[in-house]
Amino acid sequence: MRDPFSIAGKFKPPSQHFDVVVVGAGSAGAAAATRAAKNGDRVLLVDENPLSPGLIGLDVPLFFGGRATAAVQNKGRMLEQVIAANPLIEAAFEAGVEVMLGTTVWGAFVNGPGLAALPTPMVGLADDERSWLCGFDRLVVASGARDLVLSFKGWDQPGVMGANAMHALLTRYHAFAGRSIVILGSGALALSTALLAIERGLRVAAIVEVRDRLQGPAHLVERVLAEGVPAYTSHVVAETHGGLDGVERILLAPTNDPDAPRVEIACDTICQAIGLVSAIELLAVLGAALMYDPARGGHVPVIAGSGQTSLPGVSAFGDCAGVAADDPDYGLDWMRALIAASGPDVIVCQCESVSRAALLGVKHPAYLGAVSKGMARRDIASLREDGPINQDQVKRLTRTGMGPCQGRRCREQAAMMLALSTGDRLADIPLASYRAPVRPLPLGVLADADEAPEMEAGWDVWFGIPTQWIPYAEIDTDREALQLAALSVGEQV
Ligand SMILES: Cc1cc2nc3c(=O)[nH]c(=O)nc-3n(C[C@H](O)[C@H](O)[C@H](O)COP(=O)(O)OP(=O)(O)OC[C@H]3O[C@@H](n4cnc5c(N)ncnc54)[C@H](O)[C@@H]3O)c2cc1C
Repeated sequence: MRDPFSIAGKFKPPSQHFDVVVVGAGSAGAAAATRAAKNGDRVLLVDENPLSPGLIGLDVPLFFGGRATAAVQNKGRMLEQVIAANPLIEAAFEAGVEVMLGTTVWGAFVNGPGLAALPTPMVGLADDERSWLCGFDRLVVASGARDLVLSFKGWDQPGVMGANAMHALLTRYHAFAGRSIVILGSGALALSTALLAIERGLRVAAIVEVRDRLQGPAHLVERVLAEGVPAYTSHVVAETHGGLDGVERILLAPTNDPDAPRVEIACDTICQAIGLVSAIELLAVLGAALMYDPARGGHVPVIAGSGQTSLPGVSAFGDCAGVAADDPDYGLDWMRALIAASGPDVIVCQCESVSRAALLGVKHPAYLGAVSKGMARRDIASLREDGPINQDQVKRLTRTGMGPCQGRRCREQAAMMLALSTGDRLADIPLASYRAPVRPLPLGVLADADEAPEMEAGWDVWFGIPTQWIPYAEIDTDREALQLAALSVGEQV
């Protein structure tokens, strides 16, 4: 007889199982999958590309900024492009790896504190039509990196995007819609982006740098300048203007003289190439130990030996294990200059329309209506009197990071603003938590993955708080007493 008060043994077993599951078919993941297959393991390699046009429109998982062409609507063509762009995928396939493209890993779970009843470690997978669970013995996370993006006046219009997203549209999809680009930042990422764009026949209208000299390696600086790209050092974005199709002009202000005349440059795309952020969301959901390491680009997994995370059987390779960041203060220098150049009304969280003022005033977004007297008195300074600033708490109070892009456009800059406004070190602002699903999923896709009947039958008993688990529809009806009697707690109520 199964104990009705226990969930043990009531999880449905996963519908598939592999010795090794690899998340991400970039260079790191495809190589790891091939190596494991050659060692005789049964390997599944999963990658979300080609992405659905809907996700690209939501800026998930990269900040595409509305600059993908209509080619992304054609799934067959996109699939061919994704395979052609990375020969390592075909090599993995030939080595016997099961390759699933167009498939998202929306969660990953191992037994641990707060979760002790899984029949086996498993990942949650979903494609356009369905969701299912897949068990594994070992998991390799090779989920890459996304762009560090910062706010300025007009950054919420089409045409403002990230460098990694531009790289993906140019090399993986051949579906970039811009012609004339202004690049923010001048490190190796920015200079390589400029050279890639020029190689693809695009015009790089300017490189903008807040510091007083270009930051990247000399050989890249030389090549970019030799191409005739104008470089504006000690300049920052003051504002941008656009029309129906998005960005048309950018206005730059000197960082050392805000009243000096602005430099106006015509462009259809503003590419943020200030830095990259490791895509650690699955590692965070798994409960792997994370650390703040500025030299590796911020919050990254704790790694011992060859990719080994703190969780047995889970390793991390490639950009998700850390990205090169020569100077940890570079992003902060940009953020400071952007705040100085444009006012408090600039939107920080595009999904929830939270302004800089609302974030630092700890106010909910205007669309939710009036602010009470108590809320009006509250701000970051008063919140800090109650204890260290916690980004999760600020998120709940302001909704910054709660929209469909899942904080990919605002998470880092919100942490930076909290640090700059309180004087705390960025390292001391705790990482805002990640939760599964780590990608937005239509409910229709999740609906079929229903739980087992044994699980369903236990809902109103297994937490052992009977009064809380009387089915809602039966409260205040004759059946409430029957429920209590069935739970044998009538006397306690
Ligand atoms: C402009 C530019 C120029 C560059 N030039 C060079 C160069 O010349 N030489 C060089 O060595 N490097 C270069 N790089 C860097 C190089 O592209 C990256 O270091 C490399 O791609 C990282 O590989 P990766 O496998 O770690 O991640 P990626 O190649 O980013 O692969 C990760 C994959 O995982 C997928 N993924 C993530 N999460 C999930 C999930 N939950 N479910 C399903 N799939 C998921 C992602 O969509 C992605 O396809 C350049 C980068 C840029 C932006």
